[in-house]
Amino acid sequence: MIESKIIRTRIAPSPTGELHIGTLRTLLYDYALAKKNHGQFIFRLEDTDQKRYVPGSEKRLMEVIKDYGLSWDEGPDIGGPYSPYVQTQRLDIYQKYIKELLDKGLAYFCFCTQERLDDLRATQKAQKQIPRYDQHCFHLSKEEIKKNLDNKVPYTIRMVIPKNETIVFEDLIRGKIKFNTNEVDDQVLIKSNGIPTYHFAAVVDDYLMKITHVFRGEEWLTSTPKHLLLYRAFGWEPPQFAHLTVLLNPDGKGKMSKRSGSTHARAFLDDGYLPEAMLNFLMLLGWNPGTEKEFFTLDEFVEAFSINHLHKKSPIFDRKKLDYFNGYYLRQKSDEQLFVLFKKFLPQASKDQIKILVPVLKERIVKLSDLPVQTKFLFENVDYDKELLLKKGTDSKLAIDMLQKTKELINKDFSNLSERILELIKNNNWNVGEFFMVFRVVICGTVFTPPVVECLPALGQEKTLEKINIAILKLTE
Ligand code: GLU
Repeated sequence: MIESKIIRTRIAPSPTGELHIGTLRTLLYDYALAKKNHGQFIFRLEDTDQKRYVPGSEKRLMEVIKDYGLSWDEGPDIGGPYSPYVQTQRLDIYQKYIKELLDKGLAYFCFCTQERLDDLRATQKAQKQIPRYDQHCFHLSKEEIKKNLDNKVPYTIRMVIPKNETIVFEDLIRGKIKFNTNEVDDQVLIKSNGIPTYHFAAVVDDYLMKITHVFRGEEWLTSTPKHLLLYRAFGWEPPQFAHLTVLLNPDGKGKMSKRSGSTHARAFLDDGYLPEAMLNFLMLLGWNPGTEKEFFTLDEFVEAFSINHLHKKSPIFDRKKLDYFNGYYLRQKSDEQLFVLFKKFLPQASKDQIKILVPVLKERIVKLSDLPVQTKFLFENVDYDKELLLKKGTDSKLAIDMLQKTKELINKDFSNLSERILELIKNNNWNVGEFFMVFRVVICGTVFTPPVVECLPALGQEKTLEKINIAILKLTE
């Protein structure tokens, strides 16, 4: 009986900046497949491109994943049976395997200078050919190679790509995919600094780390034939590949880019999206459960996940949908939980102020970063034009009368304001809408405001009176 394999998936980001939101989606699918099958999910750091290295980003990549409530079973920070999980710490491993390919004649030294490669490229481009290496060094004699090595001529190591073969593989999302090897360049496997390229390191590591399924973006699809040829060269069984769709800009045009706001996973948290809302949104951005259910906890997602329901069509990163999920998850929170979240986004507010604001604002915000905007009037002096006070065509004498009487009421007693102000409006036969249009501007400086009277306790009696005085002054000027 063939023993069924333990499912092992990995996310392998490069420390070249912040974690992209698309990588977080890939990670979710990796995580779900591994967990659903009682397998393992691995974090591997692919830091072979030193030119693009951004110091500190490896730490931030790991931190943000954890801040989203996700974790891995093996990784640079916790180790595991296939340590180390950082590629630049595995250089001796790659040396061993490149030697194997050189010995088998499936890789070769390339001593071409950058200048020669650039010229070659320029000529090929001018002749409207696809730029590729011309295998100059593949044809060097053993003696020439030895001489160059003895003379310490810098070299790269390239892969031998067989001629005119069809490579077929079954992508888990896209089905059968065919490539002709004539389309594949003799890929550099080891760079002149001795460090492997992504292609070589990823294949060796996926094999050694016993990765069974590789989820990655469709931009890697054209690299897959190179990878499959490497597996073949070593005589290794390749993992299964699933090339995920790209996320599209909210307008449906083009790959999601900074044009439509930040694309970093961290930026969404900073913007006050809840991790669980983001994850739920991302789950459905390329996968569906096959049912109408749309709200999923991470555990429910793991339970429901299946590769068969991954989409072929690129999804639009629909921010309205994201706001909808965030609103839903915000309203699932208790006032105690909201207290903590509000405090984070309103660090200048006192505990008492937050306690007042939570019930007033929890239904009205889409994301937590709305809070500083909506409560600006509590912490800053707001300025506005006199005309704004009379926007509804209110007579200025009437507005002054309204404010004088409200001031008296507040001066006397600062409790039960909602009821007492409504009573005041009624007794004076004022128009409710008109009164509040004026009063909102008085307190907040704008016409779009949170429930203004309910916020007054957070503003305090003294500040409220001060704002009314300022408005009266403006109207009498
Ligand atoms: N290091 C690659 C990246 O950051 C990973 C690609 C892969 O998953 O194979 O995009």
